[in-house]
Amino acid sequence: MLIGAHESIAGGFHRSIHRAVEDECEALQIFTGPPGRWEVPPVRPAAARAFHQVLKANGSIPVVAHAAYLINPAGPDPDLWVRSLTAFRDEYDRCSALGIGRLIIHPGSHRQTSAQDGIRRAAEMIQAVLEESTMGPEILLENTAGSGSAIGSSFVELAAIRELTGQADRVKFCFDTAHAFAAGYDLRDRKKVQATLKRIDSEAGLENVRCVHLNDSARELGSCVDRHERIGEGQIGKKGFGALVKQDVFSEIPGILETQPLPDGQGRYRPQIRFLKGLAGGRR
Ligand SMILES: [Zn+2]
Ligand SMILES: [Zn+2]
Repeated sequence: MLIGAHESIAGGFHRSIHRAVEDECEALQIFTGPPGRWEVPPVRPAAARAFHQVLKANGSIPVVAHAAYLINPAGPDPDLWVRSLTAFRDEYDRCSALGIGRLIIHPGSHRQTSAQDGIRRAAEMIQAVLEESTMGPEILLENTAGSGSAIGSSFVELAAIRELTGQADRVKFCFDTAHAFAAGYDLRDRKKVQATLKRIDSEAGLENVRCVHLNDSARELGSCVDRHERIGEGQIGKKGFGALVKQDVFSEIPGILETQPLPDGQGRYRPQIRFLKGLAGGRR
């Protein structure tokens, strides 16, 4: 696994790469705009150039983008759905401008309609975005913790969305460990990790997992509560993460921390990244 973290773009997109280097990241995740805002301006060519240059100068580590949380592909309200579609298109375009190859999105919430309707609406939105261009990033559907009427807490649902888009070659998955655990996929030791990966493989195809979010879970198995904890300090624990980071099937994909970083002067994500690299041990 290429171990990295979600880093801030404050001060410019290229600043996220400097932060990743300081934290000893082998992969990087960013937001391409403020995650709580509907309208974000396009990427200026000079900003894209600076991003490219700094990335190249630092070994071209893989970069993934995470879409804004406001976007609700599964939502039933027609106005909000169109607003979401517009914002998602803009996300897609910003990734294209920055040369980012993978864009992660949560399938969203069906808001007391039905999972089936939510799945259909989510697929429609992804299809609409992909139909407009033959280039651009892969879309990675992220599994969720399954609280309220969120869809995508099982890989069966994510696979159903992917299938319905009619663009399966451009739609893949992001596997969030804390969300999976909250949704009932056990990851606490090597055997449980093996069993869970086998299950995901049968539900959605493990080869379609293109990014892992490495988050420990503050809450218990099956709680449906999305609360990230630092690696080894939560309910999954270090045995589970040790098994995960050693998986051959994940050897070339980003494993991104989205846990609480330490303050700037204390190395931010560096201690957790070193810890995970240590768990990966002899495999690197
Ligand atoms: Zn996410
Ligand atoms: Zn989460």
